[in-house]
Amino acid sequence: MARDERGVTPQSEDFSAWYNELVFKAELVDRGPVRGTMVIRPYGYRIWELLQADIDRRIKETGHVNAYFPLLIPESYLKREAEHVEGFSPELAVVTHAGGKELEEPLVVRPTSETVIGEMMAKWISSHRDLPMLLNQWANVVRWEMRPRMFLRTTEFLWQEGHTAHADEADAMAETLGSLDLYAKVARDVAAMPVVDGEKTAGERFPGAQRTFTVEGMMRDGRALQSGTSHYMGTNFAKAFQIQYAAENGELEFCHTTSWGMSARMIGGVIMTHGDDKGLVLPPLLAPYQVVIVPIGRGDQAEQMLSAARELASRLERAGIRTHVDARAQLSPGFKFHDWELRGVPIRLELGPRDLAAGTVVMARRLGNGQAGGPDSVSADGGQERGGKESLSLDSAPARLSFELTAFQAMLLQRATDFRDAHTATVDSWEEFAEAVKTGWAVAFHCGQPDCEDDIKAATAATPRCIPLEGPAEEGTCVRCDRPSAYGKRIIFGRSY
Ligand SMILES: [Zn+2]
Repeated sequence: MARDERGVTPQSEDFSAWYNELVFKAELVDRGPVRGTMVIRPYGYRIWELLQADIDRRIKETGHVNAYFPLLIPESYLKREAEHVEGFSPELAVVTHAGGKELEEPLVVRPTSETVIGEMMAKWISSHRDLPMLLNQWANVVRWEMRPRMFLRTTEFLWQEGHTAHADEADAMAETLGSLDLYAKVARDVAAMPVVDGEKTAGERFPGAQRTFTVEGMMRDGRALQSGTSHYMGTNFAKAFQIQYAAENGELEFCHTTSWGMSARMIGGVIMTHGDDKGLVLPPLLAPYQVVIVPIGRGDQAEQMLSAARELASRLERAGIRTHVDARAQLSPGFKFHDWELRGVPIRLELGPRDLAAGTVVMARRLGNGQAGGPDSVSADGGQERGGKESLSLDSAPARLSFELTAFQAMLLQRATDFRDAHTATVDSWEEFAEAVKTGWAVAFHCGQPDCEDDIKAATAATPRCIPLEGPAEEGTCVRCDRPSAYGKRIIFGRSY
């Protein structure tokens, strides 16, 4: 797609076209040569690095250690846990030939590493003193994708997978919920996505898990995105892989295991939670460039403006602000403004000869004054406003921009929360339910029966997203079939990615 083809289809006109054009035009990705694969370009990969660094820090702070397991797994490993293999078989890529001949046993390209890690845990754990074992791996996995969508569904994707083993259910459940909380914090505090934490219904569980928990975000088309999951496996995998320990009384016991994952799909979540008709809107904590400086000047002045922009950039960098100077000489300032808007840079600075002479620089926020959710305090500075832009003093720019970026991050979370709340309806009738899931989420009683879930899906395309952890205890009758509610509270339904 040519970069000189300006803009994208407006989000409000066709959300799907908007997303599909934007990921390429913002230079986040390109298509891989194999259908369903994705090249992550430097601008997109920097977002992943920032997200990954934050998740990794939290994983380590909560006592986990990183390790790395092989990409290729013997096919027989997957067959040891019946539900697991059934759940994954349609998506498996299998290596049958290598070294110039057919292999005796086919090898599976990992769709997840449950089995190989289970095998190693069985080897490494012998006593209660070895527990808990708290492992994490950063890796790529392959799940063959028939309907690919960049970041959301690709044949190969990047993620982390945590795998832990515990002496008993209580300890394993504390781990499962602790990891869920970690994901909720990453989503809210870093990606500015106001996710709902909850448990999956039986029909939506991970293959082989006893309980699956999720954080669900709402995208700006009202659909849900499962943004991270955490599973309690009970002793299913421990039995399949003989993960056992000698208890203090000398008896051999099976471990209780967990696994949990968050992936680069989160980048799709960020795009669809915050983006608008003009393109991406990136939360400052995940923005490759938090501030872009566009020097403005012709002829002799061009050189002077560029060096002044570079000097300002290095002062901002020293204040911890990721800053980029747009030095492309052949492009007009107007083109550059649109380009950085499309690419979601939170704050743009314009530096021209008159600004420099006055010791000022012009600031334009990607979203801000007068826009929904924009806090008034953001503009309180006494600086001169010109059409949504504001003049700042060069001297105070580092401190002021640090403040602005923090405010921008908070504004995005508030804006997304307001959007989610405005598109979530608590409903009791089927008519209200069907209406609510057209544009967002319905919070309703459900009987918990799989046939009823299927019926709702066939009628509306909505599925149970989660049984929220928060939410008052309530009893009622199923919104679809009038049988008694199964969960002691209302659950969230929505269409999803
Ligand atoms: Zn029902």
